[in-house]
Amino acid sequence: MKRTIVLCALLGLSVLSLVVAAQQGGGQQARVVEAEKLKDNLWVLKGGGGNTAVWKGMPFDVISSAGMLQRDLPAVWEWFDYRRNFMDSILPNPAHYEIARWQERFPSLTLATQNIDGLHRKAGSRDVIELHGNIWRARCKVCRSTYDMSQGARPDACLECGDRLRPDVVLFGEFLPPGAFELACQRAAQCELCFVIGTSALVYPAAGLPEIAKTAGAYVCEVNPERTPLSDLCNEVLMGKAGEVLPLIGK
Ligand code: ZN
Repeated sequence: MKRTIVLCALLGLSVLSLVVAAQQGGGQQARVVEAEKLKDNLWVLKGGGGNTAVWKGMPFDVISSAGMLQRDLPAVWEWFDYRRNFMDSILPNPAHYEIARWQERFPSLTLATQNIDGLHRKAGSRDVIELHGNIWRARCKVCRSTYDMSQGARPDACLECGDRLRPDVVLFGEFLPPGAFELACQRAAQCELCFVIGTSALVYPAAGLPEIAKTAGAYVCEVNPERTPLSDLCNEVLMGKAGEVLPLIGK
């Protein structure tokens, strides 16, 4: 089965046509076989996935919470140090690399991610809005100075004000980093093509960003192994693993 999606009307004078050849085998393996003059603004929301881990008898959402940060900062650090050591051996997957390559195809590409693992930057993505922070950074609790831990240990205390450091990630019970969500909203409202990738565990307010893009007139495409609450909003749903589907787009 072939479906032709012509986006010219949505993109004004620019020509962006995608011919999607769907249905390979049992599942819908979408393959985009043609893409011409990909142009203007692309915006990508990449999901973070759920986590049900238990550590030292504490559920993930307890040890990773704002309350635990207040009660026992060393325990929170112990947990995140453990996670970083585990993540150190994880490399970007084909989806990370493909999204990084899209930077060469689109004059403007913004990537907003709920992941905290830093793998998009590791794969080469430059304009990344980290909605939930980055596990490889520490942040001062008072002056918000940040410290990169990817190349070595963090200082014992903030070098600017001497106060205590904490992981620079959004914990349960906390707001998103100042400015990050606003910037993501702004870019979503300006984009013409919006990809929503791997967001099966939809977390608001980030999950509302594709709705902003759609309302502003963007063509919204979802890539996910199964349908999500967002699927009905999308112009196109490409079902499959991001690492398998994304490299086929435009080939
Ligand atoms: Zn400080």
